[in-house]
Amino acid sequence: MQIAKGSVAAIHYKVATVEGEHVDASQPGEPLLFLCGTGQIVVGLEEALLGKQAGDSVTVDVPAERAYGKRDPALDLAVPLSAFPEDVRPQLRAGMQFQAEHPTKAGEVAVFTIHGRRGDDVLVSGNHPLADKDLHFEVTVDSVRAATKDEIAHGHAHGAGGHHHH
Ligand code: ZN
Repeated sequence: MQIAKGSVAAIHYKVATVEGEHVDASQPGEPLLFLCGTGQIVVGLEEALLGKQAGDSVTVDVPAERAYGKRDPALDLAVPLSAFPEDVRPQLRAGMQFQAEHPTKAGEVAVFTIHGRRGDDVLVSGNHPLADKDLHFEVTVDSVRAATKDEIAHGHAHGAGGHHHH
């Protein structure tokens, strides 16, 4: 069976920036499961995997635009500490995340990560850490099967390596 929209594929993967900086990899014996056609993996990688089957290997460079997007300078902000509720101010730490209104897209919400402090400002970014990165993927297809009705209804793959419901 080939990877196509509506199929569930298990893949072993290794991803780095095109400059060679390690980003992520699946654990040995624990392939990642994804439902094809739902945006569970970046679009550039999904396209490269279409038509592949168990045992196939794919090496592909995916430009940022087809991976995690370009960095949006409007999402890199210095927010005055006084803008945060008083009770949370002492707890603000680099790495913490919060949701807030998108600064330039009305009605949209962005997830911001705190990166540190500069004077009385808290430096935050709503950009994905991999924004602007061209990525190099090395993938081996472990297995491919048809999605179940539940998986199609939920928009994600179920099972080991996929989505778990609690
Ligand atoms: Zn589900």
